[in-house]
Amino acid sequence: MASDGASEYPVLSLRGITRIYRQGDEELRIFEDAALDIWAGEIVALVGPSGSGKSSLLHIAGLLEAPDAGQVFISGRDCIPLRDNLRTAVRRRELGFVYQFHNLLPEFSALENVVLPQMIAGVPRKAADEFALYLLDRMGLAARATHRPAELSGGEQQRVAIARALANRPRLLLADEPTGNLDPRTARMVFNELLEVCRTQGVAALIATHNLDLATHMDRAVLLHEGRLLEGADVAAHY
Ligand code: ADP
Ligand code: MG
Repeated sequence: MASDGASEYPVLSLRGITRIYRQGDEELRIFEDAALDIWAGEIVALVGPSGSGKSSLLHIAGLLEAPDAGQVFISGRDCIPLRDNLRTAVRRRELGFVYQFHNLLPEFSALENVVLPQMIAGVPRKAADEFALYLLDRMGLAARATHRPAELSGGEQQRVAIARALANRPRLLLADEPTGNLDPRTARMVFNELLEVCRTQGVAALIATHNLDLATHMDRAVLLHEGRLLEGADVAAHY
């Protein structure tokens, strides 16, 4: 646990989050007054059917988009009012992202894809290599480190994307249907490895999935239902 006092605060705290999309005169209220706390090391499923607003909520939590109303706290810091460069710094230092499609750089090897974000953050090459190899090994990819993305299977590409997301030792991983593009068996394997590596690294995670079976392997689940974020028994009642 961090000794700097940061653990007094949730890693992520959403308060009064409202998202409205406007198309002409139409208002589409995706969610309204949504609240969520994620504490250090907690792994939380974000469930809800397609179109319920999971990606929208992750974009807001990841400081990629501002909400129409509400506050986003990362480790206790109110991030929406921050200037762009400070918000970017918080995002780079504290957050990791995994998407449904891997977005790896095609010209670079698996290892280099995991090394690059560390070098951008100022980590010396040797230390970056070592940590990248450690993460790839944890994801079962030690023997694939020199392969380019095109030489890897879909499941392997997602494993590299997960290692890359953890390369800068974030406190919170935000994952948007990280196994949604994989066949069910591979999805389950990659998912288990994702949970395992988050647990060993002590990283908290908010993982969007419409797969309730995968959600049951996490610490708890929150459900986007008719514009509200439900927890606990309410999830079972409405899904
Ligand atoms: P999910 O990830 O759960 O499938 P999304 O957050 O992608 O849900 O979308 C929630 C709703 O918001 C959908 O009805 C979608 O069509 C709508 N939506 C998403 N992004 C936009 C946008 N930029 N403009 C208008 N509507 C959007
Ligand atoms: Mg989505």
